[in-house]
Amino acid sequence: MPGKLKRRVADLKRNRVRELAGRFLTVPFALLAAALLVFWQREALPPAAPGMLTMASFILAAVGLALSAGFNRSRVFAVLLVLVLAETVLALPAPVGFDARLYGAAVFYFAAVLLPLNILAFSLFRDKGLFTPAGRTRLALVAGQVLLAAVMVASQDADVAAFVARDSLVLRGTTPLPRTAVLLLAAGAAVLALRLFRRPVPVDGAFFYTLPAVAAAFHFREPAALPLFFAAAAAMLTVAAIQESYSIAYRDELTGLPSRRALQEELARLGDRYTIAMVDIDHFKLLNDKYGHDVGDDALRLVAALVTEVPGGGRSFRYGGEEFVVVFPGLGLEEARPCLEEVRQRIAARAFVVRGTKAAKRVSVAVSIGAAEGGGRQGMPEQTLKRADEALYRAKEQGRNRVCT
Ligand code: GH3
Ligand code: MG
Ligand code: MG
Repeated sequence: MPGKLKRRVADLKRNRVRELAGRFLTVPFALLAAALLVFWQREALPPAAPGMLTMASFILAAVGLALSAGFNRSRVFAVLLVLVLAETVLALPAPVGFDARLYGAAVFYFAAVLLPLNILAFSLFRDKGLFTPAGRTRLALVAGQVLLAAVMVASQDADVAAFVARDSLVLRGTTPLPRTAVLLLAAGAAVLALRLFRRPVPVDGAFFYTLPAVAAAFHFREPAALPLFFAAAAAMLTVAAIQESYSIAYRDELTGLPSRRALQEELARLGDRYTIAMVDIDHFKLLNDKYGHDVGDDALRLVAALVTEVPGGGRSFRYGGEEFVVVFPGLGLEEARPCLEEVRQRIAARAFVVRGTKAAKRVSVAVSIGAAEGGGRQGMPEQTLKRADEALYRAKEQGRNRVCT
């Protein structure tokens, strides 16, 4: 029916839009919005606010630095470090013997240009640890920039001052931000938005919103603005470091499914009626041996995606290797069984393409499923899982590609 089909397509589009919007309406977005709101109401702030905000921003950054170092989130650590460096340098008065106005303009210029540049660079880098050769190289790069900027500022060279003035003058009347900084901020936001569209990662989301926070800090050249927006940025990055560590522990990297640790917590939460199913790919070793480990990984991702689409409110986990667990809270075995049968059929019917040396080939995989009901007199979740595993063993014995209970 065309009307029905149209509605289905419209539904899909709406879901996609909602899902994409969800990638941007995150904690960092809320923090930026909150900072803007506070800034808008800055007249109502007590006179001590800028000083307190400065303190708060440094405390937040220190917490973030400690956490990201502890969790080994080197990208977040590096961005927090450049933020702290910039805020410190901007807060310091001109050294004696310097023309305060020229000094201030030069420091503002280098901070405004180097911050977005570094945020963009570190967002494109891969996380390679902090106390590793790659980590040390990157920290040396940051130190090198600071040194170079310091030498330029300290030289009090007329050419440097003229260059800074020229780059900043172009946009005078609209923003105190230099043109180069505006270009870098816009380019960075575009690149990071694209990355978020492709793959939502909490840290990339925080980097994305750090850019407008930095832009606001520099654009509103007022005492409260800088620490307020830097504090918001530090909070975003800290939250993202925590979220990323959490997802490393609770999500399986290959398939994106919740991990075995997440399953343990799910089992502990189950009520007095539920069904647990164990799903295992048939002859997976053969597939690996024949086409290689990469093709095996592709097959795992495909099967994982199909397992998560299980109807009946089933929650899927990667248990290990080529094994998945589906938990149906509140469902008895007779209600869960058709849902599992549907998953089995969908997997068996789906062929995936293997790009071989000569031509693309279509390969299909099948799964065997064992299920057991738990709760009440039927036993604890761990025992139910064990019974599901025994049922799976029977499914394998009876010829695979089937559901056993
Ligand atoms: P059966 O039908 O009896 O389940 O046979 P099987 O070959 O699937 O079972 P077996 O347990 O002997 O082999 C599982 C294989 O899964 C072994 C290992 O090479 C492969 N494997 C486990 N984890 C991964 C992974 O993350 N990626 C890939 N590519 N292969 C994996
Ligand atoms: Mg197995
Ligand atoms: Mg297997």
